[in-house]
Amino acid sequence: MTTRPNPARRACHLQPDILVYTIEDRLYVNLTDRCTLACHFCPKHNDSKEVHDYNLTLSQRPDQQLIIDQIGDPTRYQEVVFCGFGEPTLRLKALIAVATEVKTKGGKTRLNTDGLANLFHKKDVVPLLASCIDAMSISLNAQNEEVYKQHCAPSLKNSHFAVLAFLELAAHAIPDVTATAIDGLEGVDILACKKLAEDRGAKFKARTLDVVG
Ligand code: SF4
Repeated sequence: MTTRPNPARRACHLQPDILVYTIEDRLYVNLTDRCTLACHFCPKHNDSKEVHDYNLTLSQRPDQQLIIDQIGDPTRYQEVVFCGFGEPTLRLKALIAVATEVKTKGGKTRLNTDGLANLFHKKDVVPLLASCIDAMSISLNAQNEEVYKQHCAPSLKNSHFAVLAFLELAAHAIPDVTATAIDGLEGVDILACKKLAEDRGAKFKARTLDVVG
């Protein structure tokens, strides 16, 4: 017996991965959907695959040249933002290659990160990032390890300490560094987070829920 293919399912399957997407006048780059955190407030841990109506699920690791081609002329956008549905620094080589290309073509770059790159790669990667990233937004998320674990469920040990160390290094190497935390999450002391950020030379921004970074 043969079964007829369901056209709707087939169309969905054939939908190409979204590698870049626009929000207002910014272009976002979806480098990976992997992450060492499992934040309870993250859409992908709440049965959603979408951010701003874009389905950011990736069927495979995106090719960096394909991303560069899809970005095209980066000066058409206010910024090219590395964000997506996972942690961009997990794909450090591709991130550096694409960001360097954007800078070479006269564009501006921003990295939205969990601040765990040095812990994950076991070395200081801030100088590499500083060579091609103009602005960085770092998810601090909590004032201490206990609250951080409660909301972000890190898989790497000492993650909160590592975010703070990364924040300080980044703030001294990159002109525009902002730490963020989500206002209203249980146990999160926004003023304490702000002080931690400012003591390390970074700016601070309280975020609202449902915005992936
Ligand atoms: S919110 Fe960001 S850092 Fe947290 S799990 Fe989702 S993609 Fe990873």
